[in-house]
Amino acid sequence: MTEVFIGLGSNLDEPLVQIKKALEHLQQLESVSFIKCSDYYRSAPMGPQDQPDYINAVVKVTTELAAEDLLDALQEIENQQGRVRAQHWGARTLDLDILLFGNEVINTERLTVPHYGISERNFVLYPLSDLVPPDFAIPGAGKLSDLLNACPRNGIERLTEL
Ligand code: ATP
Ligand code: CA
Ligand code: CA
Repeated sequence: MTEVFIGLGSNLDEPLVQIKKALEHLQQLESVSFIKCSDYYRSAPMGPQDQPDYINAVVKVTTELAAEDLLDALQEIENQQGRVRAQHWGARTLDLDILLFGNEVINTERLTVPHYGISERNFVLYPLSDLVPPDFAIPGAGKLSDLLNACPRNGIERLTEL
């Protein structure tokens, strides 16, 4: 059984609905046990700026799947929710990234884990901090509290009324 953190993001077709639907889809996977979801956050887009703000969350699950099999399942959920890969970092209905897969360090053609953006992305670090203590260590990147202190907020907002 591996403890896994998954990052969720959406900025198209009612992002909040997309995130909630993705959580339902994750809960329906037989091979994945849902543990806890962070609060929801609104963040500014990376890359192309002519796109709407994102809604983000991080969810903690456990799974018996191998990492690449979990990636298959996540990509299937993205596809079910109408993900179209057009522009790099362009607008999307749903993005599901494997942020951490236990303490594993994975570097294959399809997977880089820990996710390469984890240590500098506000929309990952803030929701992650809802789920783990400040001294939580990210393999190869250090303590979450240090990463948060070094990360500009860039206007990220916790959503309070849902
Ligand atoms: P970014 O990876 O910078 O967050 P993105 O999420 O928009 O950008 P995608 O188009 O969703 O990128 O994914 C491109 C590829 O990234 C996927 O096909 C997948 O094989 C690969 N990938 C590598 N590491 C991971 C990971 N940890 N989680 C999810 N996908 C990954
Ligand atoms: Ca991503
Ligand atoms: Ca992705």
